[in-house]
Amino acid sequence: MSIKNHIIKISKPTLLTILAIVLIPVMSVSAATLGTLRRWSSDWNQVGRWGSTVSTIPTSIYISKLNSSGTFYFASGMDSGISKWNSAMGISMKSVAYVSGSVPVLYYGGTISQINALGITTLTAGTTGYNKITSTNEGAWAFGSYLYSGMKMSKDIGFIVDRGAYDSSVYVNTCMHELGHTIGWIGHAPSNTDVMYAYNDLINLTLTLTDKDQVLQVYGK
Ligand SMILES: [Zn+2]
Repeated sequence: MSIKNHIIKISKPTLLTILAIVLIPVMSVSAATLGTLRRWSSDWNQVGRWGSTVSTIPTSIYISKLNSSGTFYFASGMDSGISKWNSAMGISMKSVAYVSGSVPVLYYGGTISQINALGITTLTAGTTGYNKITSTNEGAWAFGSYLYSGMKMSKDIGFIVDRGAYDSSVYVNTCMHELGHTIGWIGHAPSNTDVMYAYNDLINLTLTLTDKDQVLQVYGK
C-alpha cells in the first residue's frame, strides 16, 4: 500500500466515534478518601484503576480475533498499543491468545456484526472501538475544590472493529486508545492531539503527557 493511498483512505471518514464506556452510575461523595490529584484531564467525573499500584494492572491481555482478514491488523495493533502503554506506565502487559474461561481483560477484534453476534454488547455503525468495564466506586479523589469518583476495576472486555482495508497505524491508534481505558482512563481528553481524545480524526501514535498523567497519578506514580 502506498503512502498516497494510505492518506486518501484515512482522510475519507468523518469523525468516527471511538468509544462509549458502560459505567456504573456515579455515587455521591463527600470526602477525598483516595488522595489528591495533580491534574484532571477527563470530560467525565471518574477515573479508574485496578489497585493502588501499577503492579495491579493485569499483565495478560487476552485477545480473540473473530475473522481471518489479513488487512485487519488487530494482533499487531494490540501489541504496539501494549508496548506504548508499558513504556508509559512502567508495566509489563503482554497479549495472550484467548482460549476460554473467565479472564480479567479480554479483547475481541472483528466486524461490528461479528462483535454484536457475541451478545456482549451492541455497537453502532461508526464505532471503531469500545470497552465494557466492570467497576465499583472505591471513594473520591480531590483536585482543587473538586471531587472525582475513583472506580475500582475488576473486569474489562474490549472490542476493536475491523473497518476494512486501513493502514496498520489506524489500528495501532485505536488499540492505544482502548488500552488507555483498560488501564483506567474514563471519559476522554480535551485535545485532538491526545490519544485519549474521543475521536480518531488524527492518527496519533504518541501518548501525550495528558494521556499518561491522568492514569499514572491514580497508581501513585
Ligand atoms: Zn474512548
